[in-house]
Amino acid sequence: MKNREINAIGSPTYFPTACSIQDEYISSKLDLSIIIPVYNEEENIAELYERLCSILSVLDKTYEIIFVDDGSNDNTFQEIETIPDSNIRIIKFQRNYGKAAALSYGFNKSRGDFIITLDGDLQDDPKEIPRFLEKLKEFDMVSGWKVKRQDPISKTFPSKCFNRLTRFITGVGINDFNCGYKAYNNYVVKNINLYGELHRYIPALAYWKGYTVGEIEVEHHPRVHGESKYGTGRLFKGFLDLITVTFLMMYKKRPLHIFGGIGFLLGFSGVIISLYLMVLWIMGVKIGDRPLLMLGILLTVIGAQFISLGLIGELITNSRNNDDYIIKYDIIKYDSYELENAR
Ligand code: UDP
Ligand code: MG
Repeated sequence: MKNREINAIGSPTYFPTACSIQDEYISSKLDLSIIIPVYNEEENIAELYERLCSILSVLDKTYEIIFVDDGSNDNTFQEIETIPDSNIRIIKFQRNYGKAAALSYGFNKSRGDFIITLDGDLQDDPKEIPRFLEKLKEFDMVSGWKVKRQDPISKTFPSKCFNRLTRFITGVGINDFNCGYKAYNNYVVKNINLYGELHRYIPALAYWKGYTVGEIEVEHHPRVHGESKYGTGRLFKGFLDLITVTFLMMYKKRPLHIFGGIGFLLGFSGVIISLYLMVLWIMGVKIGDRPLLMLGILLTVIGAQFISLGLIGELITNSRNNDDYIIKYDIIKYDSYELENAR
């Protein structure tokens, strides 16, 4: 069993243990990778595969379909495993790590020049794939927009608010951040660090890295089989994630700029209050029982704490390798280099 698991890459006919075949598989390139995170979607797999094939077979592109089974406890894995198609790769997580982890792992393993992600619950229609690929000629990544979202109002209304807020805070002008249907040039996904539930913010993460983000309207179908894995509780988590993402992007490199700024404001107010009270005390006014004294001391101490927090943040940032700049070009003028050396 162990051997089978290690080598279960690519097709139901498993590779022998020889590393070279695996290496060859991993380094071979394709036109397109379809990544589908699935968690307890056993009833949807067969139909999804049929629909995908009917589109992919006429595309004239080499492709792979990567199913990432996010620790399903139904027959999702078996359903995928029985499909006799060597374009399929199945990855199964030991337990449910979440959609962001599934996507991230799929991104790492993908071999396509273009990557498309879609949900495995048949709500996203594979017929949109050619339109995504067309739009990718203009943008580094393209996000789907479920204009007529086929979900209950308990999901669509919070989602509208969430999208407005995210658009406002991140500055990315798209309408549907949380759409699972997206397309990327492969260099975009290789440069994005996803964890927790940050999959909702991929357009913002990409945009902040300097990539262009486009959007196309996509058809959305109601869920027929299985149930949604996300309740309204995700709104709160989504909001916390928004703070994380904003913080990471704006202040990751300079923590003191935010903590130091807040600390300075609080501490400065505390010092002013204390100075004022000191003047009163010198003039002989009793200040020992004044609430303002407490406030002055409190603000000064909290201010100092914020500044220390910022400095600790700077220490941490400094000790890590933060060279995560994306280099678009690095051209060495070959001729002039030779000339210089010849002198
Ligand atoms: N999913 C996953 N891991 C999870 C939750 C969901 O891989 O922990 C997958 C799920 O199987 C589906 C996609 O993510 O393919 C979107 O999930 P869902 O349809 O439940 O989300 P909704 O459409 O309700 O927002
Ligand atoms: Mg869904």
